[in-house]
Amino acid sequence: MIEKGPFSHWQRVLRPRLPEPRPAMGRLPPVFQFSQQSLQDYVDCPRRFQLRYVEGQRWPAIQSEPVEEHEQFVQRGAEFHLLVRRHLLGVPAEALTPSDPLLKSWWDNYLTYPPDDLPVALRLPEVQLSTPLGDQRLLARFDLLALDPGEQAVIVDWKTTHFRPSRQTLARRLQTHVYPFVLVEAGAHLFGGPIAPEQVTLIYWFAERPVEPEVFPYDAARHSENRKFLADLVAEVLAHTEEEWPLTDDERQCRYCVYRSLCSRGVEAGPLEDAGPDVVEGGVEFDFDLDEVDEIAF
Ligand code: SF4
Repeated sequence: MIEKGPFSHWQRVLRPRLPEPRPAMGRLPPVFQFSQQSLQDYVDCPRRFQLRYVEGQRWPAIQSEPVEEHEQFVQRGAEFHLLVRRHLLGVPAEALTPSDPLLKSWWDNYLTYPPDDLPVALRLPEVQLSTPLGDQRLLARFDLLALDPGEQAVIVDWKTTHFRPSRQTLARRLQTHVYPFVLVEAGAHLFGGPIAPEQVTLIYWFAERPVEPEVFPYDAARHSENRKFLADLVAEVLAHTEEEWPLTDDERQCRYCVYRSLCSRGVEAGPLEDAGPDVVEGGVEFDFDLDEVDEIAF
């Protein structure tokens, strides 16, 4: 059931966990773990990273119009993740059938067209792993880890976006770099020993396009590239000392950014129906992500 109201269930979950605004000190909180979401925010717009993670700014503006439609869209994503988690933990599918028509269509797609050939020995929903990266830590929250210990490890990420990003866009997303990297570095205890990069695969599964998943194999060369890329990116973040970090040149992102009033980049939210592939290509994603739930509360 999709809950209506000025603040959704997930926003109520999210909002109390947001830290109190901090004065701009140019430093991260004392206990902070980088994640694909925070690094993506930085790549999309350094100022957004600063406002969200350094200054702990709450959300001063809505993300898109109409508000209720946007809230319901995010809520459906959250509810879908919860349904799948319960199912993977053993609740029979018949006991989980949602009444909301769109959510039910996603659920039916999941039951009818699940990702193919997943390892069967271990199915672990909503697993969190973290690994050192220099003197920082890098965190990943996986929607699903499917493992045949010692043989194969598959990361599945459920996507509930209206628009399916291209393979090229997904390949650029920080998630595609961070998830397999963290699993190889930190997943040995689940795998029964060290994980070779070649044993890892990342699958994006789309609730509205279930027969068109995007599959990313992994290997040692990519792992080595990711190690350098991620370490360099974190070092770049930590090197900022200016009072106001650079604002993105891609103003399309500002239309859907909750901080636009703070940046004098407009007051009106962009319409949800306009957040099509061009905006997604621009890096703004209208999706529920586990990383959103409480990463900034660390
Ligand atoms: S409104 Fe634009 S410039 Fe400001 S934080 Fe958001 S994306 Fe960055």
